Amino acid sequence: MTTPDQPIDAVPTTYGGTTFRSRLEADWAQTLDANGITWQYEPEMIALPSGANYLPDFWLPELGTWIEVKGPGIPRTEKAVELGKTRACHCDGDCTCRWPGGELVIIGRPSLPWDGNARGHRPSAGYANWESAFGPSAYHVTCPRCTRDQWITLRRPWTCRNCQRGLEKQQIHLPHERSLRFVEGSGGIGSAFSNPALDAPLTDEEIAAVDPYQDPYSHGLHDPWSDQ
Ligand SMILES: [Zn+2]
Ligand SMILES: [Zn+2]
Repeated sequence: MTTPDQPIDAVPTTYGGTTFRSRLEADWAQTLDANGITWQYEPEMIALPSGANYLPDFWLPELGTWIEVKGPGIPRTEKAVELGKTRACHCDGDCTCRWPGGELVIIGRPSLPWDGNARGHRPSAGYANWESAFGPSAYHVTCPRCTRDQWITLRRPWTCRNCQRGLEKQQIHLPHERSLRFVEGSGGIGSAFSNPALDAPLTDEEIAAVDPYQDPYSHGLHDPWSDQ
């Protein structure tokens, strides 16, 4: 089943008991899990001010953040942009929004590839790639208190969207800095997040043992994202 917002060749993919509309959505769910980010899939149909109905892909209830997953090319993002505009902070003076700066809408993109020059990461694992749907750029940051990975904008105050701790002293990252590992397929890459030893340089034998072109999903169907 496809909708006008989805690539025609999107392959429904089941992960963790949820059937996603595309493999890329399933990969984002795995990535969120691997990073300890609580998510809900398509929890709410939203009536936008323009009159359009919009079903965003992911809601992150701890972070006040939506993620709309979009494949390569120039898929339509108007609804995500309108949601971002609508839910952004409109406070006069100090922000009193439930989440600092209001709700955030992130466009989740296909991963950035593993950097072949950087030994020490599994070659089958790439890095998360995203952009803000509306407003200033979204940076990835990890809260030192509650440890939540999250996205923030540079609008002050810089506080954790989960626990409100100040984040001024934390490193912030844009996607090209490759700070957030992306989990693709069910090949056990997620365990890399919980096993620090996997951040150590891989041996040549380990590198040879990892086949980056192996389709880790069991359905064995064509992967529309591999054609890029
Ligand atoms: Zn506000
Ligand atoms: Zn926090």
